[in-house]
Amino acid sequence: MPCTTATGGTAIIAIMKKPPRKRPCSVCGQLFRPDPRVRGRQRTCLDPGCQQELHRQTCAAWHDRNPEWDRETRLRKTLLKDGPALAAGADPTGRFNWERARDEMGGQPAAVIEELAKYLVGWVRDEIRREALKNMAITSLRIGSA
Ligand SMILES: [Zn+2]
Repeated sequence: MPCTTATGGTAIIAIMKKPPRKRPCSVCGQLFRPDPRVRGRQRTCLDPGCQQELHRQTCAAWHDRNPEWDRETRLRKTLLKDGPALAAGADPTGRFNWERARDEMGGQPAAVIEELAKYLVGWVRDEIRREALKNMAITSLRIGSA
């Protein structure tokens, strides 16, 4: 890293540290010298096959610790139906796959969520109308006073 000397010039300070000690690759077992920039976190040699294998092992261990993740991800992908963009004013809850939700969680919890979704859609529509009417009233007051 360059630094400024007392005379205003720049100098490169060589870091005279010992190179990192060799360590065994966690995949192939060959000794390698880790890159000093990763400060001891490097677990494999530079062979791309070893790096891919470590990545595969790390992913497999993560999926073993999180067995529900794949199932939930597949479920999430089936909950929204594909289709063209909704027309203005269309009910967005129609895009939701309620049958799939009922199959997955049972009828009563799905009914609670369906009614909550309908309630929230109605509430948002009412709020937008109320806000639009308020803005129209403010605009007409401004026009009337000008
Ligand atoms: Zn290796």
